[in-house]
Amino acid sequence: MNKKQITKLKNTLEENKRSLEEMLGRFAQKDNLPEGDWETSYPNFNGNHQEEEADEVEEYSSLLPVEHALETKLKNIEEALKKIEQGTYGKCEKCEKEISYKKLSVSPESKYCKDCL
Ligand SMILES: [Zn+2]
Repeated sequence: MNKKQITKLKNTLEENKRSLEEMLGRFAQKDNLPEGDWETSYPNFNGNHQEEEADEVEEYSSLLPVEHALETKLKNIEEALKKIEQGTYGKCEKCEKEISYKKLSVSPESKYCKDCL
């Protein structure tokens, strides 16, 4: 890859990072909680408005896998950006061959080449 291609992928990564952070920001209740700690962020039960609370829990449960997927993607993007800084971006983590630009332009956070997936 040449510098121009890396810059382009870096821009894509940064854009993706921003929109992911924005999406994750909507799950406000998870802010400031340790990773994976969901119990404390459950809606408060006080015996009133039971129907409403059931809805809240249902909505909350359906968001969990979405939230997890977003977090994983964000983590991969951050790792990729770090690698660009360190100059190790674009190398397969398994076989250390270069990942093709074609593959990276589809998913710039790729860690592995097409043979190692
Ligand atoms: Zn590989």
